[in-house]
Amino acid sequence: MTAARYFSSDYSQARRRFAEAAAAANASITSYQHPGTGPQGESLSTEVAWLGPEDAERVLLTVSGTHGAEGFCGSGVQTGWFESGLAGEMRDDFAYVAIHAINPHGFAWLRRVTEDNVDLNRNFVDFSTPLPTNDGYDELAAALCPPTWDDATIAETREVIYAYSDAHGADALQAAVSAGQYSHPDGIFYGGKTATWSHRTLKEIFFRHLSSAKAIAVVDYHTGLGPRGHGERICPAFPDSPGLARVQEWYGDDHTCPALGTSSSADIRGFNMIGMEQAAPHAAITPLALEYGTLPMEEVKLALRADNWLHLHGDLESAKGRSIKAQVREAFYQDADDWKQMVWDRAIETQRLALAGLNGG
Ligand SMILES: [Zn+2]
Repeated sequence: MTAARYFSSDYSQARRRFAEAAAAANASITSYQHPGTGPQGESLSTEVAWLGPEDAERVLLTVSGTHGAEGFCGSGVQTGWFESGLAGEMRDDFAYVAIHAINPHGFAWLRRVTEDNVDLNRNFVDFSTPLPTNDGYDELAAALCPPTWDDATIAETREVIYAYSDAHGADALQAAVSAGQYSHPDGIFYGGKTATWSHRTLKEIFFRHLSSAKAIAVVDYHTGLGPRGHGERICPAFPDSPGLARVQEWYGDDHTCPALGTSSSADIRGFNMIGMEQAAPHAAITPLALEYGTLPMEEVKLALRADNWLHLHGDLESAKGRSIKAQVREAFYQDADDWKQMVWDRAIETQRLALAGLNGG
């Protein structure tokens, strides 16, 4: 049997299978109810499964669905970690904690963003101080999110976007589009103006469950960047930080760091690890995002722009709406056995290295 059996085809199935696998492994489960509902009227929640001593000092923490629709990937790994028995093979004094669908609304609706169009991984900024500016995004905002969406508009706006890249370079374009922006609430990669539900819930989970932890190895699962099936170990920490030093120690050179310009990800603002560090200042957090490629970046960006248009101007029930949703799903989840196997193999290798790191720390 292949690892494909761990993966689910929609949010509700993923939540049910995760909870069943966690319960069968004797993990305790806490649910955090989201105020909204899914497209079929289904309830939404974030689940936290805890396996191991409640006061464990060393914790392996996995997170799925930070970017909603990317949740298929991380959910499959979390479910498989329980179902395969690997969770049960951990050291008795370690805890395994899985946060399932931290952005359940995005997962259920096949969106990267939260219910308020916020990119959760741009939302962990200090809202009491002036928010970061992004002149490049401001310049491209109208082209990135046009009021109509058809072949002619796509071609016209592509010219504007390419012209920006020709003038400033491909890296500058990527930063303009995806580093995060706080000026266009209806746009893409919007960081918000306040802490969104998923942000507050992540911190609550840390306060409630992780107050005894002294060392936390985080693996936050993402998709949509890089070569298909490749899992890039991205360390979202600052240069010269203890977290980055531990990532180097545990994972060797097989990692990248956006702040050092070595990653396929732009150097983003307001990522979730900042919130984790704020909520658990007593713990040494070793932060890692595992980012799997799906489709070429151009296609992923096109799917995101189409989805933004759909929710602002389109009709989800129309043929065009359904076609865009299929495009988004494929941009963040490759429903193919070979891709799932690559995801699983790299995830297991990574989580084992994380455990070895915790063991030595
Ligand atoms: Zn992501």
